[in-house]
Amino acid sequence: MSNKSKTKRFILPEEEIPKQWYNIQAEMPNKPLPPIHPGTKQPLKPEDLYPIFAEELCRQELNQTDPWIDIPEEVREHYKYYRSTPLVRAYALEKALGTPAHIYFKNESVSPMGSHKLNSAIPQAYYCKKEGVTNITTETGAGQWGASLAYAARMFGLESAVYQVKISYEQKPYRKSIMETFGAQVTPSPSMSTKAGKAILTATPNHQGSLGTAISEAVELAQTTPNCKYTLGSVLSHVSLHQTVIGLEAEKQMAMAGEYPDVVIACFGGGSNFGGLAFPFMRHNFTGEKKTRFIAAEPSSCPKLTRGKFMYDFGDEAGYTPLLPMFTLGHNFRPANIHAGGLRYHGAGVIVSQLLKDGLMEAVDIPQLESFEAGTLFAQTEGIIPAPESSHAIAAVIREALECKKTGEEKVILFNLSGHGLIDMGSYDKFLAGDLQNYEVTDKEINDNLSQIK
Ligand SMILES: *Cc1c(COP(=O)(O)O)cnc(C)c1O
Repeated sequence: MSNKSKTKRFILPEEEIPKQWYNIQAEMPNKPLPPIHPGTKQPLKPEDLYPIFAEELCRQELNQTDPWIDIPEEVREHYKYYRSTPLVRAYALEKALGTPAHIYFKNESVSPMGSHKLNSAIPQAYYCKKEGVTNITTETGAGQWGASLAYAARMFGLESAVYQVKISYEQKPYRKSIMETFGAQVTPSPSMSTKAGKAILTATPNHQGSLGTAISEAVELAQTTPNCKYTLGSVLSHVSLHQTVIGLEAEKQMAMAGEYPDVVIACFGGGSNFGGLAFPFMRHNFTGEKKTRFIAAEPSSCPKLTRGKFMYDFGDEAGYTPLLPMFTLGHNFRPANIHAGGLRYHGAGVIVSQLLKDGLMEAVDIPQLESFEAGTLFAQTEGIIPAPESSHAIAAVIREALECKKTGEEKVILFNLSGHGLIDMGSYDKFLAGDLQNYEVTDKEINDNLSQIK
């Protein structure tokens, strides 16, 4: 091996942090179908979203013409707190697997909140501040998005209010502590502070909460509070736009390593960390210059990409959002309570859905136990305890690397380590004690759910 190939981590200097995000919508062979306004049944216009989101974010959401969007200098200043993130060659994992494949990962777990979510929380808070908003609100499940939003709100001098799903609020107290450290007001949802919450609690006094109920509360707060906007940490196109800093950096770092990925892999909840890593590489497939494979790794218990249907459906359980053309299991789908909370979402973003429909990417589903086995092997070889979400990507990487072992191919595999698992150790405890299980979803369950959608 030459000295160059022994390098473990590839780091970019600050001035190489991207100055623009990559807007794949402008260059996709088939653009996503328009979201539909549920009232008028007309294609959504940016103005329709202004009451809820910062206006610039609404324009980014529906921008299908500009491939490059400038990153405001104030946002880059905050990216500098933790970017560039390292690109790492996983030599020890390769050795443990006995694979000829070259495995690289982009380490987004080094962000102050421990996941990629800050890459979008920072610009979302920035645009709100710039447009005169004083308060921002959101929902959070496990708390990774809520923590990132609380951090970003503080950095731009905004007040933040986070509705956390009640069961997570009780099970994951440290994420609440993180949010409160940054000054957020954290409310377990459903709560008596909104009409939506009151209605749910009146009907079901000991309701444990869900993302759907928390979204309803946050949206109501945004609509009834002056100068308050709502924010979302995944699924929407502007979120994956912001996340492209990951792939744009990785492209330069892979060049430093003298390689280009044959396979790009990321775990999949709504699609933002997958899109963030994959989209900048995908543009070279569009021109025919490269033939990289792109694989999204979803949990077997929530298999919207591998077993869902492409159709118009609501983005939330309550049916408040516009109708989105996407792969979905039906907005009433109740995923099993797996520990990768960030992957428990019934649908996929509109961009990724179109790409999958067009055969420009692939998806695999990973059972919960396989994900924890992969995460544990990764910790024992590469020294980082991955988030349970990220472990799904690692499991998919291991499958590919073992295939290379059979065929003898020296493929270059790149994956996204979307976060670390240091605040999720309760789930590792259960895995180590043998208390975790796999969850099967039956075709009947999926079909029954989808048949409810009109
Ligand atoms: C939220 C989250 C995910 C899933 O969301 P995407 O939008 O699909 O990226 C994955 N990994 C981590 C660590 C998360 O916090």
